[in-house]
Amino acid sequence: MKIIGGISIFLLTAIMLLQVSWLNSMRNTKLHEFQEKSSSLLQRSINDFLDAEFMYPQHTFSCSMLDNHIFHWKDTSVHISSPTEFHFMLQQVLYDHLYKNQLLNLQRLDSIYKQQLSRQGITDTPVLYLKNEIDETILQTHAQSTHRTVRTNPVKVGYEYKHTIVALFHKPPFFHDTFWHLILEFIFLGSFTGCLLWQLQMTKNKLQTAKIQSMGIAHLEHELRKPLATLINITHDWIIQEKPSDKKILELIHARLLKISDVTEMMLFALKQDELKIERTPIDIRQELETTVSMFRLLKKHARIDYQIREDINQPLLDNVYFSCVVANLIDNGIKYNKKPKPEVRIYFEKEAGNWILRVEDNGIGIPSKAFNRIFRQFYRIEDKRTYSKTGFGLGLAFIKKVTDAYKGSITIKSIQEQGTVFTIKFPCI
Ligand code: ADP
Repeated sequence: MKIIGGISIFLLTAIMLLQVSWLNSMRNTKLHEFQEKSSSLLQRSINDFLDAEFMYPQHTFSCSMLDNHIFHWKDTSVHISSPTEFHFMLQQVLYDHLYKNQLLNLQRLDSIYKQQLSRQGITDTPVLYLKNEIDETILQTHAQSTHRTVRTNPVKVGYEYKHTIVALFHKPPFFHDTFWHLILEFIFLGSFTGCLLWQLQMTKNKLQTAKIQSMGIAHLEHELRKPLATLINITHDWIIQEKPSDKKILELIHARLLKISDVTEMMLFALKQDELKIERTPIDIRQELETTVSMFRLLKKHARIDYQIREDINQPLLDNVYFSCVVANLIDNGIKYNKKPKPEVRIYFEKEAGNWILRVEDNGIGIPSKAFNRIFRQFYRIEDKRTYSKTGFGLGLAFIKKVTDAYKGSITIKSIQEQGTVFTIKFPCI
């Protein structure tokens, strides 16, 4: 199971990493393509712009060609060998002329560039920057925008000035698409891995629970049924033969053992069932609590056990077997998980907002809050050196939970380490 889980997680992680690196490289390629395209369009736009400026009648600009291969402008003469070179030189010196005479209109270049871009399906509005030799901005088309982070290659302009023009774009749309794609991919794979782990954990828990459960029930049968049967027989013989002098005590022990035997049978029956069936009958709550408490007073002489019932309560409709088991289990735990020389357990029975309330308080070792949910699982026992020596099967609270669920009631716990625990159980009155 662990190996399959490990391999699946490894494969999922590998797929995820491959996806991420593939998306990332695709994004970089796309970004590079975008930069190349917008840069070449910028170059073309600058050429078109300068050609258009040359034809502009207001610009009094002159240059000449000497002997077909000497380009002459003001005091500058450059040797050229082709019409392309001539065109290039013309554009450079025209730029110098425009810049020097403050005739450079960057907005005109901007509108040409936008037209070129939109013809290629790019609708973003870039900002154009004119920069000097030391990369300082001299002119720009819009106010500074921090959101534009994708820049074109700089295009050189000017013969004397050696300026550059650069355009800045927002991140192109595919950039966002891939970003969200990546996020969705992560969410999908994350939830998939989560589900897989959860499934593995559930299967593991189920297997473990089934194993513990069958072991525990077998243990319970072996440990309780047999000794109880033996004890019942012995005490029964003693009573008949009138062997020990204090017959009353023996009778009481015998009666209690019979009750414990009943309870054991009941618990075994209950644990083998998924749901309990409650048969409500009017019970004499005073007598019920008195019987249970006096049994513990007799068996646990060092402990102090009190109970209190609200006066107006008489015969609540509860069942007469499971209810006393719940009380007995809580008293037993309150004394068992207690380090005080005189353990104290107080039981309260009240009525509140349509519920019977059974509250059992003890001054024991307390229960850590992180174990509150777990202690109701069958066969769960808190792993603590203070409770190692205490006998138990981890069934008492599981049983109490089953009974409470059958009543459609609820259990709450309040506990402070080394000070005590309060179990409050609500049984709806119907
Ligand atoms: P058991 O007592 O047989 O172990 P329970 O289901 O009654 O089984 O209790 C489960 C665990 O909860 C116990 O092992 C114990 O650690 C803890 N526990 C239950 N009741 C108390 C209590 N009143 N005070 C402290 N710990 C308790």
